[in-house]
Amino acid sequence: MSDCLFCKIVAGDIPSTKVYEDEDLFAFEDINPKAPVHVLVIPKKHIPTLNEVTPEDGPMVGRMIQVAAQIARERGTAEQGYRTVFNVNSGGGQLVYHIHLHLLGGKQLQSGLG
Ligand code: 5GP
Ligand code: ZN
Repeated sequence: MSDCLFCKIVAGDIPSTKVYEDEDLFAFEDINPKAPVHVLVIPKKHIPTLNEVTPEDGPMVGRMIQVAAQIARERGTAEQGYRTVFNVNSGGGQLVYHIHLHLLGGKQLQSGLG
């Protein structure tokens, strides 16, 4: 999608600090990190929100989670712990409408959600 920020990041039209890339997925450092580890894992395919994920996307979404866990291991926060989050629509705090899995770690995260 031409006017999508994260599609532009995948295309390299907007610079990012790449953490991981394969045929279907891309991961990069969040520009405004909320924790020492704050990486965004995204599909290369444009999907606006989790609400538009289809059954056919299931394996790819599973891979997003696996990639986040792999990055957590590489950053040394897997044992201590970390959080993965999909924000959905404005009520869920979503600002960029191209699905992304937040990986947050490297510090003690509060137990509450909300
Ligand atoms: P959301 O609130 O949509 O779940 O999260 C969007 C995330 O994208 C935010 O954590 C924000 O800091 C990050 N972000 C927004 N614009 C950019 C950008 O241009 N580059 C990078 N690397 N991250 C961005
Ligand atoms: Zn997009």
